[in-house]
Amino acid sequence: MPSYSLIAPAKINLYLEILGDRSDGYHELAMILQSIGLADQINVRSISTDSIVVHCNHPQVPTDQSNLGYRAAELMVRQFPKAFAKYGGVEITLNKQIPVAAGLAGGSTNAAAVLVGIDLLWKLGLTQSELEELGGTLGSDVPFCVGGGTAIATGRGEQLSPLPSLDSIYIVLAKYRSLEVSTAWAYKTYRQQFGNSDLRDSDNLAARASAVHSGAIVKAILDKDPGEIAQKLHNDLERVVLPAYPQVLQLQEVFANQEGVLGTMMSGSGPTVFALFESQQQAEEVKLQVREAIIDEDLELFVTRTITHGIQVVSSV
Ligand code: ATP
Repeated sequence: MPSYSLIAPAKINLYLEILGDRSDGYHELAMILQSIGLADQINVRSISTDSIVVHCNHPQVPTDQSNLGYRAAELMVRQFPKAFAKYGGVEITLNKQIPVAAGLAGGSTNAAAVLVGIDLLWKLGLTQSELEELGGTLGSDVPFCVGGGTAIATGRGEQLSPLPSLDSIYIVLAKYRSLEVSTAWAYKTYRQQFGNSDLRDSDNLAARASAVHSGAIVKAILDKDPGEIAQKLHNDLERVVLPAYPQVLQLQEVFANQEGVLGTMMSGSGPTVFALFESQQQAEEVKLQVREAIIDEDLELFVTRTITHGIQVVSSV
């Protein structure tokens, strides 16, 4: 039976600004999303039964209908019943490297990979924007994960405008293995604590434009200036996550004290903290220094870098 093997990169947020509450329960956002080299490997294979089967090497990731990869396959079955009848069921194998519930879009990128994989298995010939539109029905980060690179995301995060690619800014990621932050909790708490000061009239373009402050970091990205990008990092969700999770704040403080760190911030709803570097050597050195400064086996550290792509097909059988 045919199969495809795909690489599904994680993302970090270089910028996350909450512009206002939306009546659908989501928030109006202005984000800058960046693909990174840390990635899961996904295999998608046609099987002779008419079922969807998920295998995963990570004990915290469900393999039932709540798995985002499973949900992506279900969506394809619903959208393309004739192809499903012709090609049969799908077996999805997830080899997770991306930490779970970490603010790195681990589930979303798996969903994006399954959409791309099934498109190939079933020879549908969908365009990137068709895949992104399907992805938007599964989760706000899924459309970005399809094409990846560097992009501005607005709306609830699903409306994308590409930015020039940022290749090879080096990154250290730090996450406590046992610490998870629910994205829903972070946004809900933000709404409770700061909702009143938010822009509520999301249809008013002028009001929205004056509320967005991403201009300076966009300019730094256009200038391809890592030092300036690092100075303009911003994440509104830090306002609720840092007070509730002192370990996350401590990670930032430890990073900020190391030589060579251009800037440091929490990614998405956390709890992953990242730091940016000019060179791989500096990143490797700081990884060791953080390991010495925080003696805790629960702390995972990764060296990675910015990359210019989303889902990639690496082999087909
Ligand atoms: P985001 O940055 O998009 O908010 P995240 O990195 O914070 O995402 P995920 O890793 O996507 O969070 O996991 C969130 C929850 O989704 C976890 O509780 C996990 O059990 C569940 N989940 C479902 N499918 C997957 C998957 N394929 N990979 C990882 N987690 C999954």
